Amino acid sequence: MAGVDNPLDFTGKIVLVTGAATGIGRATALAFARRGAAVVLGDIDARAQETLELIRAGDGRATLVPTDVSIAAQVERLVAVTVETYGSLDVAFNNAGILPPTGALLEQSEADWNRTVNVDLKGVFLSMKYELPQMMAAGGGAIINTASVAGVIADPGMSPYAAAKHGVVGLTKAAALDYASAGIRVNALAPGLVRTPMTQGWLDDPAMRDVVIAQTPLGRPAEPEEIAGTVLFLASPLASYINGAVLVVDGGQTSH
Ligand code: NAD
Repeated sequence: MAGVDNPLDFTGKIVLVTGAATGIGRATALAFARRGAAVVLGDIDARAQETLELIRAGDGRATLVPTDVSIAAQVERLVAVTVETYGSLDVAFNNAGILPPTGALLEQSEADWNRTVNVDLKGVFLSMKYELPQMMAAGGGAIINTASVAGVIADPGMSPYAAAKHGVVGLTKAAALDYASAGIRVNALAPGLVRTPMTQGWLDDPAMRDVVIAQTPLGRPAEPEEIAGTVLFLASPLASYINGAVLVVDGGQTSH
């Protein structure tokens, strides 16, 4: 039974996940679907179809809406299709993101800056802009925005990404203040190193792997499923008093 007896049962809930084609978004979409939610997948990558099929193969309910989160009309359509298909929107995981090439600020191109800020920061803004009215109409909801440890600290060579992810943290806090009275909780998730297509190049390069693992006290990257658990927690009644928070899930990386 959903609610008080089993707060991690999402039966009857409608959940939107952006960046659901691979990595953290796919794992989280699958985790919500396994616990009863109907899940709407928004992504530009064709691998979102695989996520859809995995959910349906497990008897879950899901819909795919090809979406570029940096384009307002596409995000508006993603939310509109969600509500047309399932009637409402309870939870949004605004997770789509890209990592620009590593390099000191002077090596960063304007094009990479624009791309990164448009997807990683503006994408979250646009997502909330269309999600919030639906949640307000329903009397409440929960939003989880994917920031990063790069939204809390900076690493060398990551200026556009660190700027965008710090922006996601600020945007999350501001939205949490604006919509708390509407019963909507807005929180940010700050993962450390997670084994996904985004980081596979680092993990496949032995020298780079040693460097990134050395920064992680647990001595290994997180698996995407370990991040999904935190998203489900933040979306659930267990987190009913958590609002405007940045939940760091980094194996201890930012503790020293
Ligand atoms: P990933 O590359 O597997 O997933 C990113 C997803 O976002 C992909 O499905 C991709 O197609 C999608 N996407 C990219 N641009 C998009 C756009 N314009 N519109 C819609 N979808 C788009 O990597 P991941 O690690 O699962 O990343 C998920 C989120 O987690 C990102 O926001 C990333 O910045 C963040 N993050 C990742 C790590 C890590 O170590 N992997 C650490 C901290 C934060």
